[in-house]
Amino acid sequence: MAYLYIAGIKYKIEFTEGLVDNETMGMCLYDQQKIRVSKELNPGRSVQTLIHEAVHAVLFEAGYHTDKDHDEEFIDRVTAVVTTIFADERNNELVQMMQKGLNE
Ligand SMILES: [Zn+2]
Repeated sequence: MAYLYIAGIKYKIEFTEGLVDNETMGMCLYDQQKIRVSKELNPGRSVQTLIHEAVHAVLFEAGYHTDKDHDEEFIDRVTAVVTTIFADERNNELVQMMQKGLNE
């Protein structure tokens, strides 16, 4: 079972058979604290989709609750940049520091 903690909220990550609702690669269910990602995606697309849905959750937890607040182009642009934070090994030390600090 995989979980992602966003603002202290435990989001359950579910990898689903086929595409989520036959159209999208992923979705975020805010009321159930779940992120669903299609199992059919290649690893790169899977990570991108997970981060995309996590950005939706970040905005939701920040108080942005309307569809208007979740413009897909905006989310995709933020996702692309956020992904570089975790993909860049030069940030490993900071990521580890964050993990340590948040767990203390
Ligand atoms: Zn989206």
